[in-house]
Amino acid sequence: SCIIEFNGVTKKYGQATAVDNISLSIREGEFISLLGPSGCGKTTTLRMIGGFELPSQGSIKIDDKEAGNLPPNHRPVNTVFQNYALFPHLSIYENIAFGLKQKKIPKSQIKSETDEMIEVMGLQQHREKYPRQLSGGQQQRVALARALVNKPRVLLLDEPLGALDLKLRKKMQFELKKLHEQFEITFIYVTHDQEEALIMSDRIAVMNQGRIEQIDTPQQIYSNP
Ligand code: ADP
Ligand code: ADP
Repeated sequence: SCIIEFNGVTKKYGQATAVDNISLSIREGEFISLLGPSGCGKTTTLRMIGGFELPSQGSIKIDDKEAGNLPPNHRPVNTVFQNYALFPHLSIYENIAFGLKQKKIPKSQIKSETDEMIEVMGLQQHREKYPRQLSGGQQQRVALARALVNKPRVLLLDEPLGALDLKLRKKMQFELKKLHEQFEITFIYVTHDQEEALIMSDRIAVMNQGRIEQIDTPQQIYSNP
């Protein structure tokens, strides 16, 4: 079944068309990548799902409800960006617990869920440190932990490994795939790296100049480029 449905979605900024008449059904639980060169509309597509932008035309439905009518904090969606966007003045624990603390949840539960996520991500020895004391890969793991601890049904990932060196990127690709299997949530993954999309995705939407040119499994894309 589908969790997100784009129907004829266009996004314009003034005269410029960032997203051009996209229709797309995203299945619950899949790992789908939006692949294409810089400027082709990947981030804009993601930002519309997250509720940071509204379409100029067309509709986006999440769970059969018009996304534009849902306030961003009522969407079953969380986002991880390339630049981590951690809070510099909060410890790793406090960064990860932040979202849970905005909800009315007992303190003991916040602690147990945050500690569990810290363990899943192998961040135990960094619990009381601050973001600047961590490497890029560790910070990205904190950003993932912070998003996943809220148990979103959809995780939006905008070039989350883009700032990492090649070796670390390979390692994190593997970890992300494992997390996707472990958490059974929908991953929507923006990348301009074809190899990365081929390795990680269940399906790839190939974008160019605001349009989806092809959408298929990695196997199909690889054999019919
Ligand atoms: P990608 O993520 O594939 O690099 P974007 O979605 O960021 O592409 O951008 C698609 C196009 O829309 C680009 O030409 C970009 O300059 C333009 N664009 C994106 N956001 C804005 C904005 N807030 N204002 C004006 N133009 C924008
Ligand atoms: P990426 O290429 O990694 O997707 P960009 O550097 O194009 O990201 O864009 C970063 C941010 O700036 C995004 O939030 C995007 O919406 C915004 N942006 C991109 N192009 C423009 C533009 N021409 N005018 C205003 N904002 C833009």
